Amino acid sequence: MQVYKFGGASIATPDRARALLPIFKEAQQPVVAVISALGKTTNALEDIVNAACKGDKQKAKELAHKLEQQHLDYAKDLLNEKQFTVAANAMNVYFTELQWAIDDAQPERYDYSYDQVVCIGELLSTLIIAFYLQQEGYDYEWVDVRDVLRTDDVFRDARVDVEYSEKRAKEVIGKILAAGKNVLTQGFIGATADNASVTLGREGSDYTAALMAAMLHGNAVTIWKDVEGLLNADPRLFKETIKIDAVSYYEVIEMAYYGAQVIHPKTIKPLQNNNIPLYVKCFLDRSLSGTVIQNEVRDAAYPPIIVWKQDQVLVQATTKDFSFITEDNLSDIYDIFHELNIKINLMQNAAISFVACVDRREDKLQKLIEQLGVNYKVLRNEDVSLLTIRHYTPEVFFDLTKNKVVLLEQKTRHTVQVVVM
Ligand code: ASP
Ligand code: MG
Repeated sequence: MQVYKFGGASIATPDRARALLPIFKEAQQPVVAVISALGKTTNALEDIVNAACKGDKQKAKELAHKLEQQHLDYAKDLLNEKQFTVAANAMNVYFTELQWAIDDAQPERYDYSYDQVVCIGELLSTLIIAFYLQQEGYDYEWVDVRDVLRTDDVFRDARVDVEYSEKRAKEVIGKILAAGKNVLTQGFIGATADNASVTLGREGSDYTAALMAAMLHGNAVTIWKDVEGLLNADPRLFKETIKIDAVSYYEVIEMAYYGAQVIHPKTIKPLQNNNIPLYVKCFLDRSLSGTVIQNEVRDAAYPPIIVWKQDQVLVQATTKDFSFITEDNLSDIYDIFHELNIKINLMQNAAISFVACVDRREDKLQKLIEQLGVNYKVLRNEDVSLLTIRHYTPEVFFDLTKNKVVLLEQKTRHTVQVVVM
């Protein structure tokens, strides 16, 4: 068995969906296909829940109506009349679920409300694609993944109960596969023991795909993307990028940790634990070789891998009386970051000061500065970026930092990180 994951971009339009048929045709069966919401649907659903929680249910319903219409138009484009009628009936169930979720949305339960609204995107997209594949003669059975993936109730960032989910995966999905069919299901969503819908964090479909492969002992996962494979830098920020042919799980975990938005960070662990390779392939041109992510890459000679995190703030805390920063101070300072749930992206301490680079989240920063200010003199540098280069060379480092003011620099054998302005 293998798992294919299709992101929102790969099904953004009916034409894109049609263009995926050869991929399904050539796939070695059985396949478990894990699919995201159409295009930018998740963002649109976020707007809906925001309006609903602000109390503007009217606006939420208008936006919902627009979204429903877009899904119907999409389905109509893809499906013949008979198939469309059946699909529209099936989709109606989730249009109703969306209306209820809007009625039910409350600001006091924002995260819960968010998940009840946002999960609809994946339910609709998978229905449309499932009906389309059936129409084209492919044997794919649609599964509501909420019957399979059981999670805790940390809404918007739910943790999967792997033991229970694995049992369900074998019962529900394993049974279909054993009958010689393929499965098509949703990424990104699951359900609690009380049957409330949850989401696993934005871009979580990669993680779902990895879990499916791990739970069902799949041979491989393939993530179909609009780029030629895993690149050494974000093509939106750098003109010249290099595609990496093979890369270790370890290297990808490092990239994700430093902030590369390549693959959902939770994806690698289930694959690594079960030694399942992950292929990144391009849906626009499936003849391209793509990237394989696997346990070990012999004699790997990686190009410099560049992660550019923007919207950073550098916060400096200095003792007010020129006393040294001791372990006691550090422990107090970490406590404050921990309490406020602020992730430190880079830090350094010196004789009388402590410096940390963090994401710019105004609400949290205000509190951070207030609380640090009780015992320290606090300074902040706005609008800085954090540049990380793995496998750096002096030339690349020079090239990327010239014309910039370097506020903080840290080097290890393989990695250099700088905060620049
Ligand atoms: N549709 C969700 C998102 O946009 C999940 C995913 O695409 O992986 O975040
Ligand atoms: Mg997506």
